Amino acid sequence: MQPEQWQIDLQHCVRTLDQLEQYIPIQNKERMREVLANMRLSITPHTLRLIDFENPNDPILLMSVPQERELTFSPEELVDPIGDEAKSPIPFLTHRYPDRVLIYATFFCSLFCRFCFRRSKTGEANPGPTNTDMDRIINYLHEHPEVEEVILTGGDPLTLLDWQIEDWLSMLRQVPSVRRIRFHTRTLVNLPSRITDGLLTILRRYIDATHPIFIVTHFNHPKEIAPENITAVARLVDMGIVVRNQGPLLKDVNDDPAILEELFKRLVDIRVVPYYLHQLDLAQGTNHFRVPIEEGIAIMRSLQGKVTGIALPRYMLDLPGGKGKIPLTHQFAHRSESSNWDLESPFGESLKYHEPNC
Ligand code: SF4
Repeated sequence: MQPEQWQIDLQHCVRTLDQLEQYIPIQNKERMREVLANMRLSITPHTLRLIDFENPNDPILLMSVPQERELTFSPEELVDPIGDEAKSPIPFLTHRYPDRVLIYATFFCSLFCRFCFRRSKTGEANPGPTNTDMDRIINYLHEHPEVEEVILTGGDPLTLLDWQIEDWLSMLRQVPSVRRIRFHTRTLVNLPSRITDGLLTILRRYIDATHPIFIVTHFNHPKEIAPENITAVARLVDMGIVVRNQGPLLKDVNDDPAILEELFKRLVDIRVVPYYLHQLDLAQGTNHFRVPIEEGIAIMRSLQGKVTGIALPRYMLDLPGGKGKIPLTHQFAHRSESSNWDLESPFGESLKYHEPNC
């Protein structure tokens, strides 16, 4: 059988320093080899076309091209920054919230993002679940009917072959309590050719009026929204799939209110719902991407009233140790005395609000 275009694209990713050197000079190859020993390199042909290699500050370059700075670890940084392992009752499954689980369907990604919070797993040649692991996962779901939602993640589950995706969907649909299935994928950004007719046919087979499929994708900068990406999103949305976006706040990439405003507005225009902006998790070797929380709150505050509510995501912190996510928010309301509140309008005016007895 002939490979499909997305598979050809995967074969043509930049994966070695010699290949990367054809695009950008590499100063210290020895150090860069150490960087790649911690986390592999892969950049898809689509993303290579979007990078301006003449500009060392190109946001897509910063997110995709390894840097020596990844070898600097802060003491606060962790191998497992959000405690996936602490909440993993069986291999390849994390059960952090009562009603949903994460399943690591593969640890492969089309592009290894340099800020990845699961870089300790995605960065190595880490095999995904075997058939035995999959059976164990399905048994676990049967034994835990409180789980209504399954999030297929990794790695990137849409880098699996069509038949593997269909296997997961058909097994999950046989668990009566599982009503919602989500794919967390960055292929819409880095490998839009993955949204093939064949994939759409498979997804369509497993959606009905009470069993939705969600795609949560990961655009971080408006420059990533190219015509091929818009087409890939449109094909999914036209089929009845809700596409949402989450991604981290990244220093020198999107830590600018104007860039985020443009990103969020362009996402809703292409029918992607901005869902979460994450405070960067404490993964080792990612400190050069980190923005202080205070700055993140101020950036999101500045967008209140400027960006339509349907385009404004929540700014979230995923707590270490598997403790769960919390919103990081500016306080617009302070109780001053009984039934009185000191409020701040979206435009910065101070207001008094008297609450009637009720
Ligand atoms: S696609 Fe997701 S899992 Fe893969 S490297 Fe990027 S952030 Fe990590």
